Amino acid sequence: MYDIGLSELEITERMIDESNDYTYQAEVKVSPSECLECGSVHIVKHKKHDRMVRDLNEYEHRVGIVIHGHRYQCKDCGNTFGEELNCVDKSGRLTKRLITKIQLECFDRTFKDIADEYGISQPSVKRLFEDYVDELSESYTLYSPQVLGIDEVHLRSQYCGVFVDVLGQKVIEMTENRNKVTVRNSLNRYLKIIKSSV
Ligand SMILES: [Zn+2]
Repeated sequence: MYDIGLSELEITERMIDESNDYTYQAEVKVSPSECLECGSVHIVKHKKHDRMVRDLNEYEHRVGIVIHGHRYQCKDCGNTFGEELNCVDKSGRLTKRLITKIQLECFDRTFKDIADEYGISQPSVKRLFEDYVDELSESYTLYSPQVLGIDEVHLRSQYCGVFVDVLGQKVIEMTENRNKVTVRNSLNRYLKIIKSSV
């Protein structure tokens, strides 16, 4: 049996194709208990529904998972829906753990490299990264890490400054550009935080 660390799926088979990519066949182990639309428990299996998602590579092998699930139908409101899987992104095409990995790798690698490595399109990689940047700017709280790293990233056709908590391995701040004044202003803010905390 194959265990790929996704508890909602039972892997039944693995195939290797001519490009050395892995394709897993998986059955869904969870089933919905109520209608996602009206909350009714009067639901029945409607029909089989397969979907293909991309997952983290295994060594040099790119990984796809064919998920064999079902659509369900609500007998009260008529709504149809599939199993909700926590391991799969809402787009239904990538696992969440793959998305997290891609978003972090975008700071060091080109979109093309990443797209080739995981077998997804370059615009998709770019979109994931832009989503991540939006998320970061929403949840952003400035603090001064023990070790501050400064980097740059090419985004939306210009270079931005990136301030990183090196030990905590996360991005603290991204600046609109990487001009001297912008970077100096950011550094001054970090200095202020340090001064105010001693
Ligand atoms: Zn319903």
